[in-house]
Amino acid sequence: MSPPEIQGLLVQKYGGSSLATAERIRAAARRVARTAARGKPVIVVVSAMGDTTDELIELAYSVAQRPPERELDLLLSTGETVSATLMAMALHDLQQPAVALTGLQAGIRSTRVFSRARITDIQPARISTELLHGKVVIVTGFQGVTEDQDVTTLGRGGSDTTAVALACALGAERCDIYTDVEGIYTADPRVVPSARKLSEVGYEEMLELAQLGARVMHPRAVELAELYSMPILVASSFTDTPGTLIHRDGDSKNTMPMEVRKNVRGIAHDTDVARITLVRVPDRPGVAAAIFEPLAAASVSVDTIAQSSGADGTTDLSFTISRSDLPRALEITQSVAPSIHAASVDTADDLAKVSIVGTGMQSAPGYAARMFGALARAGVNINIISTSDIRITCVVSRDHVEDAVRVLHTAFELDRED
Ligand code: ASP
Ligand code: MG
Repeated sequence: MSPPEIQGLLVQKYGGSSLATAERIRAAARRVARTAARGKPVIVVVSAMGDTTDELIELAYSVAQRPPERELDLLLSTGETVSATLMAMALHDLQQPAVALTGLQAGIRSTRVFSRARITDIQPARISTELLHGKVVIVTGFQGVTEDQDVTTLGRGGSDTTAVALACALGAERCDIYTDVEGIYTADPRVVPSARKLSEVGYEEMLELAQLGARVMHPRAVELAELYSMPILVASSFTDTPGTLIHRDGDSKNTMPMEVRKNVRGIAHDTDVARITLVRVPDRPGVAAAIFEPLAAASVSVDTIAQSSGADGTTDLSFTISRSDLPRALEITQSVAPSIHAASVDTADDLAKVSIVGTGMQSAPGYAARMFGALARAGVNINIISTSDIRITCVVSRDHVEDAVRVLHTAFELDRED
């Protein structure tokens, strides 16, 4: 993707809740028109209105037990086409020249993996021409097109990725993500009322937060933004409150005064967690591969893995997955279990995970101890622990996860102003 020069280009993406009704589409159009009136070239990326995508999926499954994936993607793509055309009409009504383009027309090429296609290339000629004619260009989010012109979708929440990819391909100044929350918070404000909005955050921290359950941004969009150093502003489409800027220098290492900085930036939690345990597996090479290879082949993404070793040469091997993958993963695990001589297979689907995230934790000791201490005092039992350089995750029971988020938010002083 080599950026053609369009000075001062902005990409604005509007999520489904920001476009849920005709009135909201008109409000979003007014925001776009205000930006364009300042002389800025603007690309608008839209999601489907409200819960349209869920409704279309339901509709597909009401006519067929297994809808063909090609047709399913073509069906789902219509949600974004509706939004884009309505947005263009609303802009015309405000005397703002605008043109709506589908993924195909916008040159968004993708792999041929229906329902989770990846963008391979953007051919921006049409978009550039329309921008040069002074039009606001509205592009359907979530859509790609294969070499042979079949329509694909990029996976749920994929419009963020469309927006960031366009911003990178056309060398935009920034990519704005308009949504129904005011930015990225130190924890989910519905769980922790004293959670604070971060004015800025780095890509690494944002990626962890997004992957660990902060649903505001699609992780793939954050990855792409990091690759191209594209700044992202996450803000509410309903207010004019400043949002959160995600950018290269936004992580805790860069923005906090050296010695007094808060090394934990945010608490993320996710309630979509199930566990499978292979009980008393012989402790010898090849066992993990025998389980995880068939899971990978079935595209089950395995999250936390923990192995406990018993004294008698056997181990218990546990891993977590998303709840919707449990039936499939269990079937695979049970079929492998006899060949690796596991005593039994055990499952739980009432789990959740809670994580502390911050790049500043890398070099500072004691974070794990503080986390476990706070959870112990709150009577929260830890099932599995996993860590990376910049996060510590504990798998706990779902009934306790909200308490866990609250005590950790307090323990790491996140409710206090910096
Ligand atoms: N409409 C799609 C979805 O609901 C894509 C998006 O909203 O980003 O997943
Ligand atoms: Mg949506």
